[in-house]
Amino acid sequence: YFVTPAQFEGDRVEITGDDARHIAKVMRGRLGDKLIVSDGVSREALMEIERIDAGSVFAVVIEPMEMSQEPRLQVSIAQSLPKGDKMETVIQKCTEIGAVSFVPFLSERTIVQYDAKKEGKRLERWRKIAKEAAEQAHRNRIPSVEQPLTWKNLLAAFSGYDAVYFCYEKEQGSQLRDVLKPFAEQALRESAKPASLLLVVGPEGGFTEEECRAAEAAGAVAVGLGRRILRCETAGMTALACALYESGEMG
Ligand code: SAM
Repeated sequence: YFVTPAQFEGDRVEITGDDARHIAKVMRGRLGDKLIVSDGVSREALMEIERIDAGSVFAVVIEPMEMSQEPRLQVSIAQSLPKGDKMETVIQKCTEIGAVSFVPFLSERTIVQYDAKKEGKRLERWRKIAKEAAEQAHRNRIPSVEQPLTWKNLLAAFSGYDAVYFCYEKEQGSQLRDVLKPFAEQALRESAKPASLLLVVGPEGGFTEEECRAAEAAGAVAVGLGRRILRCETAGMTALACALYESGEMG
């Protein structure tokens, strides 16, 4: 279970909300039952239930655990907003595979109407999906889901990553494999701090040629993912799995 750092005080936590209900009603939790609790940032522990109240489960640390399930290569997915509930699929699957954050954005051929007023609810839902997928995958961290960015702001954010790969099906030169191998080897060998990689994926109608040139000018490398055209919700998870495979994170 994930709690906020503020809920994980000293060697005790108070679990509230849906998680408390899940422990009490679905799992039929009893005093003395064991749980693994993480603050999603730096602490995780095997804990024991010491009290169940209406709406809250209180637990105490039995044994601190190492934060060990997280990949050393920190891959973020920038996804041009897809139609329907495809963004939910992207967040769920990429969280299981090991993405550390999601950056939705708007590009020229984005089809969905962006409504800032409805954004709060949607963001809340996406974050809930990330949390549940992280729990299911036994992750130590919940990937962050950012507010959707404009194209211009996305380009400005490229400088915050060690590498940015712009997935472009019309790319004739570099394929993901060509750039990943040397990057993963160097990143994992040289730096004590985990290397960061941003994978940029387009909408149903793809990116324009101009967008590709602008992304390259902002520091991205345009890459192909092979000869077949992947759906917009498939491209990110495929590239992510390849990146983590190259860095030795897929078993
Ligand atoms: N029309 C389909 C759909 O509705 O999902 C395919 C869309 S494809 C153009 C969407 C995005 O996936 C592209 O902008 C690109 O980022 C990525 N993509 C798909 N296949 C790719 C490939 N073979 N190489 C590189 N990127 C690819």
